Amino acid sequence: MESNKICRSCLRNTENLRNIFSTEEILGQHVQLSEILASCFSVLITKNDGYSENICLKCFQLAKLSYLFRKLLKALQQRKTCREHYDILR
Ligand SMILES: [Zn+2]
Repeated sequence: MESNKICRSCLRNTENLRNIFSTEEILGQHVQLSEILASCFSVLITKNDGYSENICLKCFQLAKLSYLFRKLLKALQQRKTCREHYDILR
């Protein structure tokens, strides 16, 4: 079995895969899937580490949603911080 036809995350054998080092456009920004896995899940992936470099579309969607949710929380946090500063300055 070819390791690159297996999802690195859920280990499913499928043809519908995305390369972890490919770039995706999310909210107008170009982000590498490996960066999403690193920032959301603290999973550091290097090329040629012996594991599959692909994830299936289901895992990709989950990673993308997690990334978006993280962005949302960060944006809310920043807004709160800005508001606190605003309240202090008043
Ligand atoms: Zn998967």
